[in-house]
Amino acid sequence: MFDSKNPQRTPISSLGEFGLIEHLTKNTILKQPSTALGIGDDAALIDQGEYYTAISTDMLVEGIHFDLSYMPLKHLGYKSVMVNLSDIYAMNGMAQHITVGIAVSNRFPVEAVEEIYEGINLACARYNIDLIGGDTTASHSGLILSITAVGRVEKPKLAKRSGAKNNDLVVVSGDLGGAYMGLQILEREKQVYLENPDMQPELNGHEYILERQLKPESRKDIIELLEGLEVVPTSMIDISDGLSSEVLHLAKSSEVQFNIYENKIPIDPSIFTLCEEFNMNTTTVALSGGEDYELLFTIALEDHDKIKANPNLTIIGYVKEGSGAHLITRDEKVVELKAQGFKHMEE
Ligand code: ADP
Ligand code: MG
Repeated sequence: MFDSKNPQRTPISSLGEFGLIEHLTKNTILKQPSTALGIGDDAALIDQGEYYTAISTDMLVEGIHFDLSYMPLKHLGYKSVMVNLSDIYAMNGMAQHITVGIAVSNRFPVEAVEEIYEGINLACARYNIDLIGGDTTASHSGLILSITAVGRVEKPKLAKRSGAKNNDLVVVSGDLGGAYMGLQILEREKQVYLENPDMQPELNGHEYILERQLKPESRKDIIELLEGLEVVPTSMIDISDGLSSEVLHLAKSSEVQFNIYENKIPIDPSIFTLCEEFNMNTTTVALSGGEDYELLFTIALEDHDKIKANPNLTIIGYVKEGSGAHLITRDEKVVELKAQGFKHMEE
């Protein structure tokens, strides 16, 4: 049995999230011939002959991923589905089914769980997803939602993290940093409220970033757009932890070097004003903020003309031979990108 008093213990923080996954799964052996892709991408792939089935699980934990003092339960249900669908879209596939695991304490009335399900059902209706099962249990330590999404990837369209090639262009959908700044506003107003419960939260004018944090959308529309444009990304990942961390994942999996231009990173104008107010750097927010659930991908140079005029897509850099990732700053300095995404935000 696990002895918590054993002095040989290794703190999880010494490995970090990705280090821990690597440590626990390094001896995993794949036995089924149908397993086309195991651990290490946004979703695993099962070979179904004509197509792949993509599967991905993500968990949202109270106190770690959300704070119920400002996260409406319906939004939480909606967001928990988005976070999972995003990983299927990141394979260039279509999500089709979800299962929902929920651990809930008895401090919650039935109506509260109903609200979570209103959000889950709304997400399923909008994204054409069938809820096909799950699990329900009591919890003594807060609310936990664990969702598994299943989808279909047409074989010629598959986009893994590992396919980026020398000279490819690096493309990102939408804009970045909004979800993180939305969180800053919510945290600030929570503090104001805790100090003076008579004060009304000041959320006006911040609708866009609040929506990015509380009610994100996953980019099914981008997968449909790419299909219409007849572009198959050479590699793809969704941005859950921050641009920096995701760029490094693609670089590592593809064994190439990513170069990103600071002045090309798409950032909503409202974020510039807000960053001044919070004394933050917009680039740092976009690189490390996370939770934007945009898609980051690479395309072959010859596909440039197909995407260049699209307002939903921004070319932010290029791939070359080598390793790691660089940021080319506004004053043309080249700095190495670090995977601060996840760890940075936890500090
Ligand atoms: P994402 O951010 O796209 O959800 P993660 O960083 O959570 O991806 O996971 C990276 C990879 O590690 C995925 O392939 C995921 O399935 C796998 N993984 C994560 N946690 C575990 C675990 N506890 N056991 C086995 N595989 C895991
Ligand atoms: Mg992902």
